[in-house]
Amino acid sequence: MLRAQTGPYDILITGAKVIDGSGTSWYYADIGIRGDTIAAVGLLPGATAKVRVDGRGLVAAPGFIDIHSHGRRGIFTVPTAENYLREGVTTIVEGPDGSSPLPIAPFLDRVAKTPISVNFATFVGQGAIRDNVMGLVNRKATPEEIERMKGLAAQAMRDGAFGLSTGLYYVPGNFAPTEEVIELAKVIGRMGGIHISHMREEAAHVLDSVRETIRIGEEGGLPTQITHHKIIGVSNWGQSVETLKLVEAARARGVDVTIDQYPYTASSTGIAALFPQWALEGGQKSVVERLAAPEQRAKIKAVIVQNIKFDRGAGDPKNIAIASCGFDRNLAGKNLAQITRDRGVEPTIDNAADTAIELQQKGGCSAVYHAIGEEDVVRILQSPFTMIASDGEIPVFGQAAPHPRSYGTFARVLGVYVREKHVLTLEDGVRRMSGYPAARLKLWDRGLLRPGMKADVVLFDPDKIGDRATFDKPHQYSVGVRDVIVNGKFAVKDDTVTTERPGQVLYGPSHQ
Ligand SMILES: [Zn+2]
Repeated sequence: MLRAQTGPYDILITGAKVIDGSGTSWYYADIGIRGDTIAAVGLLPGATAKVRVDGRGLVAAPGFIDIHSHGRRGIFTVPTAENYLREGVTTIVEGPDGSSPLPIAPFLDRVAKTPISVNFATFVGQGAIRDNVMGLVNRKATPEEIERMKGLAAQAMRDGAFGLSTGLYYVPGNFAPTEEVIELAKVIGRMGGIHISHMREEAAHVLDSVRETIRIGEEGGLPTQITHHKIIGVSNWGQSVETLKLVEAARARGVDVTIDQYPYTASSTGIAALFPQWALEGGQKSVVERLAAPEQRAKIKAVIVQNIKFDRGAGDPKNIAIASCGFDRNLAGKNLAQITRDRGVEPTIDNAADTAIELQQKGGCSAVYHAIGEEDVVRILQSPFTMIASDGEIPVFGQAAPHPRSYGTFARVLGVYVREKHVLTLEDGVRRMSGYPAARLKLWDRGLLRPGMKADVVLFDPDKIGDRATFDKPHQYSVGVRDVIVNGKFAVKDDTVTTERPGQVLYGPSHQ
């Protein structure tokens, strides 16, 4: 005990307000780090250390954990994940929305061999499993196919997955009935994993989708999470009142359902999101064939028109901005109305639907959809069961026009929704980025500033922390984070990204 209290430490942080990730009020304490572990938290006068960090005026918090990240390509091209580091994120969890590498062991091996700055974990995707067994077909699985899927799910858990992600909105998850997902969920649950869902629908049928997500947890016997919860389409705004009631009622009867969210009024996904689900069966080649048949094209276009009017388009093609197109870099940042006008026609919804078809025919694009109401954002954020997750990626700085959530999610919550709007207390905001997602993932040695925990620590200025990335100028790092320590090493020191790459692959509860 004496040694723990007097050092020597490798790093000693003094004078900071400690917000420990549990939600408890801040307190002054020094933090002594030895190796990759927090050795002591308390007033440590006279302690010695190799590196002393003056934390006066700053908050010391556990490194933030992003439970929904699309970082699996970017981690190899930008191994510092600077966009994440600059807002205090020290762990990202990949494999969301039903999509993951499969098998995951060789992929995690490759990440483990790459020097990276943040910790990296993954879910296994239900869509990836289904694709592996059945391809991208629109039919029910046979009992034998379900057995094979269960085998792949179990293997993924042994390989280190933290649970099962679904993307029931996307091909091929959209072809899977709930019962099929529940069969996989039972396997995952027995092995300590959770279920996290990009729901089947987030607009007019969002209530049914929430019910389905809850049912997967209830009948699958595992924790279940509504990921990036939002209400899309002006005519559906306000439905978060009802979705949150469903969550509360489920929890009251013992179903462990939780939520995560990014703090923006726009979403981002492929331009194919405007298309009817049936049109996407079989992948891009089949889509192009369908669009070449006039009758099918007309049916597809009718749905796109509806979706621009009432769903992700929120009534105006201007609300749909291109993030990136593989076939034409110059389209990044333009909206569907502008691109339609560039075709030489009026930017009506009808003409914009033709534009969307053309873009998809050429190979598809990712897009940003401005169709979420601020009141729903705030209401969902205030639910005690909501944690923060970016749904972002690791962009190459300056390339394309990604959703600003990749750069700003965590800093935006602390800057806008804590400091400016007082929607959350600082302690509660930090909890939703650290202790809460850690507990969700059963990452029992992270997410809290306590002796014995891994030393993932962020030091930030509570008066300055904030996002700078906007939809027009997304490539801007967040500000206010001064130091980031990952596994006991500085990944950011005095506002500068270091040459250390202390990130590790984290393995789930059934890893063998
Ligand atoms: Zn998603």
